[in-house]
Amino acid sequence: MRIILPEKVTFLLERLERHGFEGYAVGGCVRDSILGREPSDWDITTSASPRQVKEIFPKTFDTGIQHGTITVLLEKEGFEVTTYRVDGEYEDGRHPREVRFTSQLLEDLKRRDFTINAMAYNETKGLVDAFGGVEDLKGGILRCVGKAEERFEEDALRMMRAVRFCAQLGFSMEEKTARAICRLAPSLERISAERIQVELVKLLESPHPDWIRQAWEYGITAVILPEFDRLMEQDQNNAHHVYSVGEHTLETLRNVRSDKILRLAMLFHDMGKPSIATVDEQGIYHFRGHAARSEVLAKQIMKRLKFDNETLTKVCRLVQNHSLYPETTPEGVRRAVCQVGEELFPLFLEVKRADILGQNPAVWEQKLAYLDQVRQIYEEILKRGDCLSLKGLAVTGRDLIADGVHPGKGMGELLELLLDEVLKDPSRNTREQLLELGRKLRR
Ligand code: ATP
Ligand code: MG
Repeated sequence: MRIILPEKVTFLLERLERHGFEGYAVGGCVRDSILGREPSDWDITTSASPRQVKEIFPKTFDTGIQHGTITVLLEKEGFEVTTYRVDGEYEDGRHPREVRFTSQLLEDLKRRDFTINAMAYNETKGLVDAFGGVEDLKGGILRCVGKAEERFEEDALRMMRAVRFCAQLGFSMEEKTARAICRLAPSLERISAERIQVELVKLLESPHPDWIRQAWEYGITAVILPEFDRLMEQDQNNAHHVYSVGEHTLETLRNVRSDKILRLAMLFHDMGKPSIATVDEQGIYHFRGHAARSEVLAKQIMKRLKFDNETLTKVCRLVQNHSLYPETTPEGVRRAVCQVGEELFPLFLEVKRADILGQNPAVWEQKLAYLDQVRQIYEEILKRGDCLSLKGLAVTGRDLIADGVHPGKGMGELLELLLDEVLKDPSRNTREQLLELGRKLRR
């Protein structure tokens, strides 16, 4: 098997060899190359010690020197070069107590998580595949290196990685690996929120975000996202739906494009339903006010998983507004854009579409036609350049002060009133008209 290495990687490996060391491209880049996918980065493994790596290459910085990783800079591009290592005993299902360096490539490959991630390649030796990685790539199977239970006991995060790789690559989980996950999922409790967040996002962004259903079956979500388990248990017998809330959520995940904000918004959009469900005499389910409740939960969960504020704010805003139905008039749509936010409105339309496609097919045609109408009106509004926010008003607070308005609390209210007028009738958005209107409103 031949892999085409980038020039800089070849240079790096040759240079290591010329100094008497071994060097290989390893892990994800080898896996992705064999699959014909573009590797996201090229990791190098070597018999040289971190100190020796630093002596060989003029520009380096210490990335994780205690784990043997040095970043080598080649014309501003960084490559992580890690000394062959063996992870010592794991004390807590998270961190090896110590790492030991070794001169054996095989030892290093053995500590890696999955067969498809445990291959190395260089031009001298070709592909080193000691655990059947190529075979598993061909068969589309995710399998641990060594005994699955032991590997998950060492590092519980590997269970989420296993699910994530299946979702990214469209693979199936090897039987013993799956059984080990079912047994050991509770130990994910010890993994930090940050590491869980990274894996959850990668899973959601993958071509098969609905693998979160599998994570639920394995008992993973029970630990990292118990709110999702409530969704899977929640029926919703009414005219709009043919699935449980959980199955509906999965369907909407499949129907929205791969984007972190959109996928998170779909994951959370109905999360509030279980806690506010009511059933009437006819056995019909109602979820009044669920969007607001979903937003509360989304915020709580995203804080718990240590999401950044920007992501949290955007996702919450989409969740909160997902059951907004703008009136199909220019004013109605302008008001909706103002409420959702100019930047988020295109995503809002995508959320609505995915939500509809996750509902009873009998309602699609009518609801999609409605959404098309909203989109058309929205596009006309954009083309005309209608004012859609305070930023777009033809007067600013400063203009109003110059016109005799007291700066302070009343100012904000006055601007809101002016915006309200302009949303109704964009032709009023001129300086003269707004100053005049401002004077009238003050009287
Ligand atoms: P991607 O970068 O596309 O997410 P990757 O396979 O490169 O996938 P990384 O997290 O970048 O994943 O790790 C690089 C390599 O290090 C992996 O291919 C694997 O060999 C090894 N590895 C990473 N995390 C673990 C882990 N928790 N346990 C064992 N080996 C791991
Ligand atoms: Mg990687």
